[in-house]
Amino acid sequence: MTVNYNKNEMIPAPVVDPDSKAFWDAVQNQELVFQKCGDCGRLRHPPRPVCPKCRSLNIEWEPSSGKGTIYSKTIYRKSPHPGMKAPFTVVLVELDEGLKLISNMVDIKNDDIKIGMQVEVVFDNLTDDLNLPKFRKVD
Ligand SMILES: [Zn+2]
Repeated sequence: MTVNYNKNEMIPAPVVDPDSKAFWDAVQNQELVFQKCGDCGRLRHPPRPVCPKCRSLNIEWEPSSGKGTIYSKTIYRKSPHPGMKAPFTVVLVELDEGLKLISNMVDIKNDDIKIGMQVEVVFDNLTDDLNLPKFRKVD
């Protein structure tokens, strides 16, 4: 599935399933949340139905600070999709809560993105009903 981005460019859309629906609903409200085990309290991402620590099916959702550091990055020099213009950087952000999120950076050149850089979440409004959590450098 794709979404119409900038009126004439199609990009792959997130796959929303029953496990991730609450995550994506929060993102549409410009909030970043993570699953939290309703029994042992362990945070987890990506969303899934069972706690990997205690096997509980009880799920809660915990707001994230949205702050973290770049744990890793890679630059795509060849586009994997016609709507995604290369070169672009994919980052793995380690949030202050200890969870990692794959995303992109905004308002920065690819070569200026550094591992260990302090970042915070922003919400890129791609369409009327699709936001994506992305990150920007914190000075
Ligand atoms: Zn648990």
